[in-house]
Amino acid sequence: MLTPSPKPPLRWLNLLVLCLPILVCVTLVPWYGFTYGYDTYEWIWFGALMVFCEMSITAGYHRLWSHSAYKAHPILKSIYALGGACALQNDCITWAADHRRHHVYADNNDKDPYSAGLGFWYSHFEWMLRDFESTREDYSNVKDLLKDPVLVWQRKHYLLLMLLMNLGLPLLLGLLHGDIWGSLFLAGFLRLVLSQHFTYLINSAAHIWGQRSYDPNQTARDNWFIALFTFGEGYHNYHHTFAWDYRNGIKWYHYDPTKWLIKVCSWLRLASDLRFCSNYRVELTRLAVQYNAALSKCELLIEPANWRDSIEHEYTQLVDALNQWSQAKQAWYQARSTKLSVEIHHDFELLQSRYKAFRSQLHQQQQNWHSLLHSFSHLQTS
Ligand SMILES: [Zn+2]
Ligand SMILES: [Zn+2]
Repeated sequence: MLTPSPKPPLRWLNLLVLCLPILVCVTLVPWYGFTYGYDTYEWIWFGALMVFCEMSITAGYHRLWSHSAYKAHPILKSIYALGGACALQNDCITWAADHRRHHVYADNNDKDPYSAGLGFWYSHFEWMLRDFESTREDYSNVKDLLKDPVLVWQRKHYLLLMLLMNLGLPLLLGLLHGDIWGSLFLAGFLRLVLSQHFTYLINSAAHIWGQRSYDPNQTARDNWFIALFTFGEGYHNYHHTFAWDYRNGIKWYHYDPTKWLIKVCSWLRLASDLRFCSNYRVELTRLAVQYNAALSKCELLIEPANWRDSIEHEYTQLVDALNQWSQAKQAWYQARSTKLSVEIHHDFELLQSRYKAFRSQLHQQQQNWHSLLHSFSHLQTS
């Protein structure tokens, strides 16, 4: 593991702001819980503010502002800006500048602000605690965001907003309930520390454990378990490959509440222009990774036999089937979206049955490919 040497000086303000709440969480929060107890009201507000903070980061700071994966109504942007201040992860312009550099220079220890190449601790937390050169402020990559009035407003009043959301709101909730300390400890401190560290897991754990199905040449991984804590951001290899997609978990069963929130917001007309990668391109990318990995393994086989030929043959067949399916689907969808007259109704049905035939052919080809890879995975290499 590489570590910068000698270590740059500490950022004392960051150290204080980030570590003091942790100290409160491991001492006063459990002490108060055991001595006086927390009630349902306090736990509900803890949960609600957790969702508010984390989703403002994932749907707002990350997918909306850092990656322009969709457009949002100023009302939604304002909610995200308040939630971002509540999450205490810096103002959005600074956050997005770091994050865009993280994508452009991913794993470059000198330029990626939270490079996974420098280890779990660095990418999770240490990058904020010291004056590393890669973490110095540079706004050259966020000129678009510097023109966003909501973000300019958030940046201008960040200190006040941060205090209001992190101290003012929990205190108000406590006053209304008659227990200031209970709300301050749960909805204030515990919520803050957990929401921050759940987000940090994306930079650390999601670059260490999981699958690399779309781009094996980078450290970002797809990990459903991390997605559970990060509101869907655990599908990080996909995200680093198609960063402009408003989804991170692309299958319907992938746990990605952020994508569901954005979708619901689009139905409410609070979000629009949702960008996503076609199934065709996603599948082609995934297959190319499997194909290249299989060919590399062929070089190392003790008994190569005809494996290389079989893999090349099946891969070509599968890509052909994928192309035919995609073209037939496009033709059918196009016909479906245009107004159908009685005369062309017959053509429409033809296109539909053609699409269905290519779809089942593709399924068959996928099964062949998977069973070939399955048998191949048991072979011994030198
Ligand atoms: Zn990343
Ligand atoms: Zn990103």
